[in-house]
Amino acid sequence: MGSSIIIEKSDKTSISAVDYKNLGFGKVFTDHLFEVDYVNGQWQTPKIVPFHNLSLHPATSFIHYGQTIFEGLKAFKDINGDILVFRPKTNWARMNKSAERVCMPTIPEEIFIQGLEALLKIDEAWFPKEAGTSMYIRPFMFSMDAEIRVRPSDTYKFMIIISPSGAYYSEPVKVTVEKHYVRASNGGLGFAKTAANYAASLLPAKKAVENGYHQLIWTDSKEHKYIEEAGTMNFMFVINGKLITPQLSDSILDGVTRDSIIQLAKDMGVSVEERKVSVEEVVDALKNGTLQDAFGAGTAATVSHIIQIANEGVDYHLPPVAQRDFSNKVADLLNNIKLGLAPDPHNWIHKIKL
Ligand SMILES: *Cc1c(COP(=O)(O)O)cnc(C)c1O
Repeated sequence: MGSSIIIEKSDKTSISAVDYKNLGFGKVFTDHLFEVDYVNGQWQTPKIVPFHNLSLHPATSFIHYGQTIFEGLKAFKDINGDILVFRPKTNWARMNKSAERVCMPTIPEEIFIQGLEALLKIDEAWFPKEAGTSMYIRPFMFSMDAEIRVRPSDTYKFMIIISPSGAYYSEPVKVTVEKHYVRASNGGLGFAKTAANYAASLLPAKKAVENGYHQLIWTDSKEHKYIEEAGTMNFMFVINGKLITPQLSDSILDGVTRDSIIQLAKDMGVSVEERKVSVEEVVDALKNGTLQDAFGAGTAATVSHIIQIANEGVDYHLPPVAQRDFSNKVADLLNNIKLGLAPDPHNWIHKIKL
């Protein structure tokens, strides 16, 4: 188990059908996928096989009860053509935290890392080359028992699929503070990348879009007083030169981008506060003009600038994106580290030589 992956190469490629000028995000997939089954309390031999659809028993438990988790990370090619994956071990560790919360087996590090290395190598011709593009990596695991009863499954499947993707958010976003619906509550699943959290977010996010906003600012489930996250990103802002972000809790996802930006801010000598952040504090800063910067942080967009925040029916406008020192600087630095164009003092880059 673990070290040797069975590789079954596809005898054809669909790459010529791909419009690399209009990739979108997570829409195009490569010729192969990685998969491994968990049966009889053990991970079986991992495989790389031609990309294929799944055939599932209609009672497969994750379809009914949501015992399913995922990760999201990116890889790039550097100027030498080597593959650079950003902090894959951090995603591996987080996936196992998610797994434990929803009673799934953990995944050995070598299966996760060697699986994505082998997949990225076999489909290396699929990497997009334009600025802002990436190879998005989607590891995921789901329960496979075919039985209607609610209980943790005995069998699971872990897969990795990869998707050449264009730039994610192009425009700065307008957000609205959500004070009715919640994404996650204390004691719940918010820190886990599990399907239920995203199901919970769809309706409120749809309503926000109908009201003219791109995304929501989620607040705590007890009082709707403290900010938790911005859509499916972590929320960060700058007041008087200080980077402030909600402290992690069991209702907040521990983002790799959030963690990386906090580290880079400290490296730059910017002071960082991880603590409870009230909506009132942000609204006051908006009113008195001390809010210099606000953004969502996540793998897909790296930094998503917020230009407008609505709270209780009042729209507040933020400083022009071009004037924002911190978020522009940190986004450039982080993207350059990911591309191998800036030094990597924290050893975040996992290099795969071709
Ligand atoms: C994935 C995710 C994030 C961002 O995490 P990254 O590791 O930076 O991509 C933030 N919030 C939620 C709810 C997420 O699902």
